[in-house]
Amino acid sequence: MQKELAINGGPRTINKEFPWPVYDESDINAAAEVVRSGRWGNPDCADLVKSFEDEFAAFCRTKYALTCVNGSVALRLALIACNVRPGDEVIIPPYTFIATSTIVLEANCVPVFVDIDPDTYNLDATKIEKAITKKTKAIIPVHFAGQACDMDAIMAVAKKHDLKVIEDACHGHGAEYKGKKLGSIGDAGCFSFQSSKNLTSGEGGMVITNNEKLYDMMNSLRNVGRVKGGQWYEHHYLGCNYRITQLQVAILKNQIKRLKEQTLKRHENGTYLNSILEKIEGIKPLRRGIGETIHSYHIYIFRYDRSKFNNLSKVEFSKMLAAEGVPCFMGYPQPLYKQPLFQEKNFMCYAIPDYVDYTKVSCPVTEKACYEEAVWIMQNTMLGTKEDMDNIAEAIIKIQKAVL
Ligand SMILES: *Cc1c(COP(=O)(O)O)cnc(C)c1O
Repeated sequence: MQKELAINGGPRTINKEFPWPVYDESDINAAAEVVRSGRWGNPDCADLVKSFEDEFAAFCRTKYALTCVNGSVALRLALIACNVRPGDEVIIPPYTFIATSTIVLEANCVPVFVDIDPDTYNLDATKIEKAITKKTKAIIPVHFAGQACDMDAIMAVAKKHDLKVIEDACHGHGAEYKGKKLGSIGDAGCFSFQSSKNLTSGEGGMVITNNEKLYDMMNSLRNVGRVKGGQWYEHHYLGCNYRITQLQVAILKNQIKRLKEQTLKRHENGTYLNSILEKIEGIKPLRRGIGETIHSYHIYIFRYDRSKFNNLSKVEFSKMLAAEGVPCFMGYPQPLYKQPLFQEKNFMCYAIPDYVDYTKVSCPVTEKACYEEAVWIMQNTMLGTKEDMDNIAEAIIKIQKAVL
């Protein structure tokens, strides 16, 4: 009965909001305290910044952690500090946020797209080696949605070909691979604190590493090329002001107290949701068990098969499900290389070699994910109750019954 669907005016399956960010008086007080202290800035009075970096490094069990303005810049600092040269190639997945690719272009390097695994939507480690050339310098695996990439395989290929590994862990705060925090396995790991992310101060970023040389260079690049022991107006490298503020960090220091519990809740709800959705014909949760010991579920993704829904398109299905009160949408509409930026090579002043032609790139698994399969539910919904998870399944079944 199509009339019963909420999109046609019927009753909604879920009648509640899933708030984000989560905050209370303690966050307000933390921010107010910084305002009253007058110690807003960084680097000259960055005591909170330093203490948060130490706390985050300890949390990830790495030697160093370095805050910056956002996750894109975290990736940018890591890549440039890896000493890439113009024309060097960097392997990335095409199923990720645009920043994973633009920071490569901004370093005058060439993004080389390697397709994703159809069961995890992470970089397909078995396809990396084929894409490696003499010019390849780095791999940026994205722990998509908060699920760990196959890091053993990726680190092995990187070691064999002497490549740097920069983990894009912007979805993976507190998530783990074989007991290790995401971001702590490669040469550097990058996080975003943008407002949608699992740990947020509105904007902000972090890069972690165990490598002192990398850390010193990233620190310099973040701080207009200044170096340890140098004068204030002495600049050694082409950096910029990429510093975070004390206000952002005050909020982050308070927010991180909730992260562990929130991450476990998402992990638990995600695991449960998998178990009930996999029983619905035409709905396939992504595969787990590649080595992730904690999945942070920045996004809960399931694969939709229209043939089991009377050929209803993914876009229409997502709209119906959203109308039922499940905060969901279709995710990326196309692979990154299909964006006008790549198709038209609108690279402006960046020196990308002429032979590069993204109209010839084809990553069929990513195309299927974008055009046909993937449906996203964002992380705040995953902080709901077990009953909310049951209701998500119920809403999907309701739509299926109505359209068949
Ligand atoms: C959010 C995000 C980034 C960029 O972070 P910003 O803080 O928005 O700059 C990079 N990679 C992925 C996978 C992201 O989701």
